[in-house]
Amino acid sequence: MKLATNNSTEYFIKLGVLLDLGRYSNSFDYRDKKNLGAEIGDIVLVSLKGRLVKGLVVDKVKVCLDSYSSEVNKLRLGSEYLDIEKIIQKNVMQIWWRDWLRSLALFYKVTDLRMFKTALPAGYLGKFNKNSEGLQKHIWISLKEVIDFSNIKFTPKQLLIINEIKKKGGLWQTELIKAGYTYNSINSLHKKNLIAKQKRKKERDLDTDFCIKNEINKLDISTIPELTLEQSMAIEKIEAIGSGNVSLLWGETGSGKTEVYVRLAQNQILKKNSCLILAPEIGLIPQLVDRFKNRLKKNVFEYHSNCTKKYKKFVWKKVTSEEEPIIIIGTRSAIFLPIKKLGLIVIDEEHDTSYKQDSPMPCYDAREVALDRVRKNNIKLIFGSATPSMNIWKKVNYDKTITMLRMRNRISSTQKPEIKIVDMREEFKNGNKKILSAELLGSLQNLKSNSEQAIILVPRRGYNGFLSCRNCGYVVNCPNCDTALSVHTNAGGGRWLSCHWCDLKRRIINHCPDCNSNAFKPFGIGTQKVVEVLNHELPDLKILRFDRDTTSKKDGHRKILTAFSEGKADLLVGTQMLAKGIDIANVTLSVVIAADGLLHRPDIASEEKSLQLFLQLAGRSGRANKKGKVIFQTYQTNHPVIDYLRKRDYEKFLLENSTLRKESNLFPFCRVCLLKISGIDYDLTEKVANKLSLYLKPLCASKKWNLIGPAPSLISKIGKKYRWQLLLYGEDNSDLPLPSNNDLWDIVPNNVFLTIDINPVEI
Ligand code: ADP
Ligand code: ZN
Ligand code: ZN
Repeated sequence: MKLATNNSTEYFIKLGVLLDLGRYSNSFDYRDKKNLGAEIGDIVLVSLKGRLVKGLVVDKVKVCLDSYSSEVNKLRLGSEYLDIEKIIQKNVMQIWWRDWLRSLALFYKVTDLRMFKTALPAGYLGKFNKNSEGLQKHIWISLKEVIDFSNIKFTPKQLLIINEIKKKGGLWQTELIKAGYTYNSINSLHKKNLIAKQKRKKERDLDTDFCIKNEINKLDISTIPELTLEQSMAIEKIEAIGSGNVSLLWGETGSGKTEVYVRLAQNQILKKNSCLILAPEIGLIPQLVDRFKNRLKKNVFEYHSNCTKKYKKFVWKKVTSEEEPIIIIGTRSAIFLPIKKLGLIVIDEEHDTSYKQDSPMPCYDAREVALDRVRKNNIKLIFGSATPSMNIWKKVNYDKTITMLRMRNRISSTQKPEIKIVDMREEFKNGNKKILSAELLGSLQNLKSNSEQAIILVPRRGYNGFLSCRNCGYVVNCPNCDTALSVHTNAGGGRWLSCHWCDLKRRIINHCPDCNSNAFKPFGIGTQKVVEVLNHELPDLKILRFDRDTTSKKDGHRKILTAFSEGKADLLVGTQMLAKGIDIANVTLSVVIAADGLLHRPDIASEEKSLQLFLQLAGRSGRANKKGKVIFQTYQTNHPVIDYLRKRDYEKFLLENSTLRKESNLFPFCRVCLLKISGIDYDLTEKVANKLSLYLKPLCASKKWNLIGPAPSLISKIGKKYRWQLLLYGEDNSDLPLPSNNDLWDIVPNNVFLTIDINPVEI
């Protein structure tokens, strides 16, 4: 075994390779004996227990052999390490990025591997699949050279193929198939020995492989508007405060925030800087892509979970190697993209909890990750919202670490939509037992004659809520979980029950198993049921449904929204997703069928969340040149949230609520950490929760943190797993009372799962 020498010191290069081996955090040591030139940031192929796997080179050290005196030792050392087989891809990350991710791993209490896996596109680490790596062999078709084609009789189809090949001098078989020719016609030519087939390597044509086809929307976005005074002032201030600073753009819905982002991005592009634009939902991405593409023409890419693996890898390559500035528009995980020369990050609809990952670990918050990123690099960061989260607003108002800019006026001069609170108790007293109040029905009836559109929010999914007995109150629950089963219906009218948490399916029953009453009916309301009722009451209106069931297919969001914005339906009925930034000019009416369903959720900030949602919805209607109206149906017209809504005073809510929260040291004026413990064995899970609690008690005490629990979680069973939790909270900005080493995990056996969620959305 030969070792390199340098000034008579023998040494070799040791590579630390991060491998996807589930529980292990550490990189594994390999050597580059073949001198392939592997560097930190390369994806390499290594063998591990006889299998070939892909790993990321995260360390490279020179090991000097001075201290090893004996030749035996040197030999042992040299052969101890396996060799890397091959470099699969160069330079997928840089050193600063590795260090950043390692610091995030520490913060979010996960192994390096988990953190890197969260950030890297799927397929970079792990199993090696020969066929899907790099170049693939495809069939190349050309004409046989020495043949005189003029004497041969072809079928018309064959002739077309021959001409096609002639025109291009040769082409890929897949191109012919795509153009509509069959394998049969190609093969018949091949059999007659008129064409040649050849296996050739083909570089994938990824540029055309967009995950969302980029046909330009019908919206009028191609003209460049003259900025309003508020817009120019916002841009001027944001540019003036310089890089490395953070601003909150608090602008009413329709005040032109997106236009501000576009202008700021243009300024960055002029400086040859790239930009990252984040949206909370995949459904909002197409509109943003359209608007940026229209203005910036090229180099706009997407990055979110609807993108294919292939496309994500393609974007990753662009991000790490492209010299021209680029714009990436993505969802929360795009925050980790190691974009070169990043000048601007925009987090639109900042208040949205989708920026927070609940599970699996790392339970990161893209907003906090962004704040961390700009602290380390010289990047401008902008949070945008019409209803800022209390957490970010607190950083403006209390911590004074964020500059706030407000845009109070809508672009279109129309009045704000009228807010109507309808008391459903009154409806009931007046004999209306339907889900549609008289007010709502009346408004819907006028829709068509005015050729206007409405959106209707139903805070549930599925058919008709749950099965319950009107006689005794019995509710059909999932035997695995602690929640009610939902009624689902298929196109043929078949109905069944299913669990949203564990996907269990059960047959429908018509009598109460408890009291045998036949007043045993579905309760609550789902989008599908609302659509049914509307179809029945207003048969003239065309309805589209927009929820997880109808948008889960590829391009589902976009197809439904496009159809609706083209006027192919009068009503769009959907879940929470509807209220998020959908810009359709013809919508004059927004409706919440049962506001109550949203007011009493067990979130860390359920009032904040529901008020935001209601106000967002109130901003959805009448955006262009038509006056809008919003109808909230509720059984609790005097709820404080309904009161702020009626007054349309989000700022008052923030001021009053933040005072209360500060006085009581509630989030965001404290730090919260939720330990979620789950397992199939009830006793064991509880025991582990207790053990963790005992272990953490002294740590919490020494850091002046509170420890609550262990207690069963709100939903105490999901699937077959029992769930317990420990809630910790302490002073804002103080360190978590958790050990930095593996002690915590040592308490948790293999069949019990622990999730550490910092500042959780739900508790
Ligand atoms: P927001 O993001 O704050 O909800 P948008 O940026 O979507 O608002 O703007 C609302 C509408 O007004 C869009 O249709 C947009 O094209 C248009 N718009 C934005 N800025 C201007 C402007 N300065 N002049 C005219 N129209 C504008
Ligand atoms: Zn009953
Ligand atoms: Zn279940």
